[in-house]
Amino acid sequence: MYSVKEMFYTLQGEGANAGRPAVFCRFTGCNLWSGREKDRATATCTFCDTDFRGTDGEGGGKFATAEELATAITNLWPDFEDRQARPLVVCTGGEPLLQLDDAAIDALHDAGFEIAIETNGTLLIPRGIDWSVVSPKGKADMVVTVCDELKLVYPQPDAMPERFLSIEAKHYYLSPMVDPHRSDSDPIYRNAHTRAAIEHCLKHPRWKLNVQTHKIVNIA
Ligand code: SF4
Repeated sequence: MYSVKEMFYTLQGEGANAGRPAVFCRFTGCNLWSGREKDRATATCTFCDTDFRGTDGEGGGKFATAEELATAITNLWPDFEDRQARPLVVCTGGEPLLQLDDAAIDALHDAGFEIAIETNGTLLIPRGIDWSVVSPKGKADMVVTVCDELKLVYPQPDAMPERFLSIEAKHYYLSPMVDPHRSDSDPIYRNAHTRAAIEHCLKHPRWKLNVQTHKIVNIA
């Protein structure tokens, strides 16, 4: 049984695949926070802004088998005829690796999908994942040592960039922590965390600034 909060077709907004059409599949549940506000202060990850509880979102639900899950995802992809456009599914959460197993990976590959994941790096990435984005959180122990993108929310007192330099990645991104004091009229690159991230990238050029383009163009 797979529990999915929501499933929808959009553009990947950030990272190396920014701008690319993809089906997003948001699995329920996370191992670093219960998703309940009463638990936030004592959670390992305290700044989450994602609703990953329940199956009541757009396209969400419970899927009894990997094939049913893959069919639901396939139904959201508009054009399997165009061979130049390989279908992409982004498995996110919550923590998708609590549920994304070999059966689901095989079923999605059989359906023709390239599989990307967005994970917190505390669980091993199964074989068969085509693109891995790892986003470390707080003091959580990392088990992932190799990934495609390391995307670090910045700044985090317990998870500063130096701690993750031994992780092998194709891309190293700093993603400015959302500043609750930033007004909507304030351009995205004027808030303090973005300025700090820019300064870190300029001093340490392994890192690139992650820009959340979906917020700029106002899509989900
Ligand atoms: S690890 Fe990700 S999904 Fe889990 S609580 Fe933190 S930000 Fe939210």
